[in-house]
Amino acid sequence: MNKNSEIRSFKKLTLKELKEEVKIIKDQLPSDEKKVITYSKNFTLSLSNYCINQCGYCYYNYKIPKLNGEGNVILLSNDQMVTLTQEALQYKCKEALIMSGERPGSFAEVKKELEKLKYSDFIEYVKDICTYLLDFKILPHTNLGFLTYDEMKELKKFNASMGLMLESTSMNFFNKGKVHEHSLGKLPVKRIEHITNAGKLKIPFTTGLLIGIGETIEDIIKDLYLIKNIHTKYGHIQEVIIQNFVNKEGIPYQPKKPINLQEMLKITGIARIIFENEISIQIPPNLIAGFEKEFIDMGIDDFGGISPITLDYINPENQWPQIDNLYKICKDKDYFLKERLPIYDKFIIKEGFCPENIKKVIDNMNLDD
Ligand code: SF4
Repeated sequence: MNKNSEIRSFKKLTLKELKEEVKIIKDQLPSDEKKVITYSKNFTLSLSNYCINQCGYCYYNYKIPKLNGEGNVILLSNDQMVTLTQEALQYKCKEALIMSGERPGSFAEVKKELEKLKYSDFIEYVKDICTYLLDFKILPHTNLGFLTYDEMKELKKFNASMGLMLESTSMNFFNKGKVHEHSLGKLPVKRIEHITNAGKLKIPFTTGLLIGIGETIEDIIKDLYLIKNIHTKYGHIQEVIIQNFVNKEGIPYQPKKPINLQEMLKITGIARIIFENEISIQIPPNLIAGFEKEFIDMGIDDFGGISPITLDYINPENQWPQIDNLYKICKDKDYFLKERLPIYDKFIIKEGFCPENIKKVIDNMNLDD
């Protein structure tokens, strides 16, 4: 079957048929893996919301006034970082999601702050933060938008894993009035280069699609295959996030027809069929609250990072779930909710994927906490 006829046959499948196919795939897993859903207890260090892009759906960017009046972060201060880290330690968080807008270091305001702190550039600052966290046995997972090969190579030494959303490779989004009109950093060629470089560098990697920003089902299926093909070549993608766009006031993109539950379930099932059991599928639980069981039936196996202390800065109105509640939901479905690290177990032991200093931190962590 060629790609186009595969896309056509995927489109025809009903949710019931998808669920049956997903079950056949999941049944091929060993019994101790079949009924497990993972999550990572994390917190977020939002280093700077300065960003060279301006995506139509973005609420995080410094140019979007925040509804709660919160100001912009030019550069997270040392004091803020120390306070958050200490709080994270009390809650036994094992992962720090380190995020920023894309290339914040190119803004004069950010450069000035970096100079005050005696950093030559943004990457040096990030490396220092990662080192600080590792000293407390917290594993960094960094996502700063597009990075060069050399920047990623440098950051690999300080990170358990890294991430970058593919989002969508639709070139239609760059047309006038579309969501990526002012976001050259989102050019598919750049995102694909970044994800491929992560593979060449053997970085355990998270990517994903943003659904409901004007793409077609054909675009989505092609992008799922694209991710699968990169992974087949390099074997580095641990999980793919299927993230639904959630509308917010104050942003330019206001869809006429928001993505609905049925469409999200269908895409999730198709993703499981394409990835088989090779790549985990993550659904952010705060964006599909109340429908977790339906997504479990469609083959998800991860709820991603859940923070007891910091917001989802991309969707601040969508509160993280209580872990106890999520545990109960999984139990009702005869699944077990299990905490994981930002690096999946199979990548800790996979040759070349986990630097020795990170392995040492993992060996000294108390994983039963
Ligand atoms: S690149 Fe990320 S932070 Fe920047 S505008 Fe787009 S979504 Fe927002």
